[in-house]
Amino acid sequence: MFRTEFLFLERTTAPSEDEQYAAYGETLEIMAGRTVIIRTLDIGGDKPLPYLHVAPEANPFLGVRGLRLCMQHTDLFQAQLRAILRAAQHGDVWIMLPMVALPSDITWARAQLRQAAATLQAQAVPHRTDVPLGIMIETPAAAVTVDVLAREADFFSIGTNDLSQYTLAVDRGQAELSARYPHDTLPVLRLIQQAVQAAQQAGKHIGVCGELGGVPAVAPLLAGMGVQELSMSPALIPPMKARLRELTYAEAHAAALHALTG
Ligand code: PEP
Ligand code: MG
Repeated sequence: MFRTEFLFLERTTAPSEDEQYAAYGETLEIMAGRTVIIRTLDIGGDKPLPYLHVAPEANPFLGVRGLRLCMQHTDLFQAQLRAILRAAQHGDVWIMLPMVALPSDITWARAQLRQAAATLQAQAVPHRTDVPLGIMIETPAAAVTVDVLAREADFFSIGTNDLSQYTLAVDRGQAELSARYPHDTLPVLRLIQQAVQAAQQAGKHIGVCGELGGVPAVAPLLAGMGVQELSMSPALIPPMKARLRELTYAEAHAAALHALTG
């Protein structure tokens, strides 16, 4: 998973379409045919940008964040989508939208994607259009409507950092409260399970890209619920593989069922 905000942070202007094309293209070349999920700009909330004006908000995490910010800055979103569609020629890329709450969010983004492709086509710029468009499940709204969102989204990835924050009503930066309301508590696990079941029924891929996926005690529960893919920082991968290989799916499934009963 490519968190594209890193291309936008610590600078005074936004990266150009060409600059982004070079960064995405290079990543795809390095990954040599393996899938790269590019998450569109996820800024706002805890990650403001000095060169993008957002009116002060009392609750930035409930405000103009992620996709909502792109809705206010369509030039920026268009440049990013065009760069991704161009880079898609160099490998297997999926596009993922952050902070989706309603189907209309995806409808809007799909129209933007069509517009980006049409512009490239009109300018005779080489690109691909057969790129899957998926979403993050990081609002409770999305978690409980995966069956409906599946009509618009090609795949899902659960962002447990934000899903926990919004479910438990605990600011993710609030260390003191975080200890008291851990992310792997029953309400969050039940939302994850509900989302996974709905995605399975719709025949859509579902992974986890929040930090819970990298927690050795929790990852087997996620696998046992049917999560197909876990995203984590590279250093965590070898011990996680070792942990998961100690278990059969039946054992993981039984552990998940036990955890879900509370
Ligand atoms: C999440 O919310 O779980 C997530 C993966 O995204 P981020 O931590 O970048 O908000
Ligand atoms: Mg998030």
